[in-house]
Amino acid sequence: MSNVVADGKVVILNYTLKNAQGLVLDESTHDDPFPYLHGADNIVPGLERALTGRSVGEKLEVKVEPKDGYGEREGVPQAVPRSAFPPDAPVMEGMQFFASDGQGNHMPIWVVGVQGDEVLVDGNHPLAGEVLHFSVEILGVRDATREEMAHGHPHGVTGHEGHDH
Ligand code: ZN
Repeated sequence: MSNVVADGKVVILNYTLKNAQGLVLDESTHDDPFPYLHGADNIVPGLERALTGRSVGEKLEVKVEPKDGYGEREGVPQAVPRSAFPPDAPVMEGMQFFASDGQGNHMPIWVVGVQGDEVLVDGNHPLAGEVLHFSVEILGVRDATREEMAHGHPHGVTGHEGHDH
């Protein structure tokens, strides 16, 4: 069936994401829904798994444990000198950078504090360790275009919207 969520489909969601305390962390609206490409790691594994096989019009409440979300929290933030960052780029709390390990691997890091010439960075996603509570409604399911499949992400709700790369 064409309106069932499966790999290679672009799924249009309206969603609200809350943490275990009920605080809204992120949400879309009916007027500005969230499209993603199913089977392409666009969304956390626990939510993607729960949506597989579901149909347009369905509403789901999905609880995602950290291991199926943004991972468990590991390690502690590290202080690095401001000079390790590009001199002309702003460095502020909440910003994401990519750190090189010197072997060609780039790992995401997040700035969790700035104090003078020291920047506190954390390799954990800001939502690592959080139990995620999604309320989702499936507004639409369509076949991904060839270009979307090649890129691994949707080009907007319609498949014909531009993007930044
Ligand atoms: Zn693209």
